[in-house]
Amino acid sequence: MRSAPGEFEIIRDYFADAPIGEGVVLGVGDDCALLQPPAGALLATSVDTLVADRHFPASADPAAIAARALRVNLSDLAAMNAQPLWFTLALTLPHSDAAWLQKFADGLLQTAKAYGVSLVGGDTTCGPLSITIQVTGSSVKPLRRDGARIGDAVYVSGELGAAAAALPVVLGQKLAGEPDRDAAERAYYFPEPQLATAAAIGDIASSALDISDGLLADLGHICAASGVSADIDLHALPVAPLARQLAGERALELAASGGDDYQLCFTVPQEQVATLEKLGLDAVCIGTIVEGQGEVHAWLDGERWFPEAAGYEHF
Ligand code: ADP
Ligand code: MG
Repeated sequence: MRSAPGEFEIIRDYFADAPIGEGVVLGVGDDCALLQPPAGALLATSVDTLVADRHFPASADPAAIAARALRVNLSDLAAMNAQPLWFTLALTLPHSDAAWLQKFADGLLQTAKAYGVSLVGGDTTCGPLSITIQVTGSSVKPLRRDGARIGDAVYVSGELGAAAAALPVVLGQKLAGEPDRDAAERAYYFPEPQLATAAAIGDIASSALDISDGLLADLGHICAASGVSADIDLHALPVAPLARQLAGERALELAASGGDDYQLCFTVPQEQVATLEKLGLDAVCIGTIVEGQGEVHAWLDGERWFPEAAGYEHF
């Protein structure tokens, strides 16, 4: 194998033999993939781009970059309560590098296998390093952003703040002490798409999304779409121990407004709260939906609290 394979060798050697699963009539190799949607389900589709030196350092481990690129896309499916089926990959590389590609493809296909999703096509181009993945899943009970109602309880899954606290470590910035690099890299590059939690709350929740830009900013999207506001008790936030370890006193701030954790934020009608609590999910109530125009009010010890920075925005 050449150390700098050409476009068609890249496709053939690293991506054409991706294992294919359910509903794939024709995968990589023709002008289009041919896919059979499951009967009676809606297709949920979403795309995300990761740009080098914006979403990850260009020098990062290619397997970790691939894992993150696919995981953040799968998180969007989880946020809709959709089961992963297929994905395509648009890969832009500054140059062809067999060793890099091998690690990238291994990381990608290992992640795909773990989540039962098939690579069915893509595009390979030369330019500044960027990875675009489009995922498609199927959903019988989609969870949307516009279903929150006054009185609903607001929940978050898992723990928050770890990925934002890990970012300076991942970026190689100097920090006081000896940060746990492995834990930081896991938190940042290997977010866990909350597919099981989503499936469990599909019949119960009134709205949901995944937290990519920060809890307060993302909950604001639910509120805006639903025409309501939210009151959040910051003491109730499940602050990740890693966030405390890496960011000390700033951990709560990062749990409230740091991004990249890919946990779910969802709302539950009061009459469903007991049912939800019986499921014993890894999720906690952090507040309530109230009347309003899309604002999120965060409270700390009876006082309004304002984040230092709003959620991440590209422009
Ligand atoms: P076309 O010129 O018709 O767009 P391409 O030459 O771009 O076709 O791609 C050939 C085949 O390889 C197509 O089936 C395409 O989906 C697939 N493909 C190209 N790049 C990738 C990639 N990075 N990962 C997976 N499949 C790819
Ligand atoms: Mg093409």
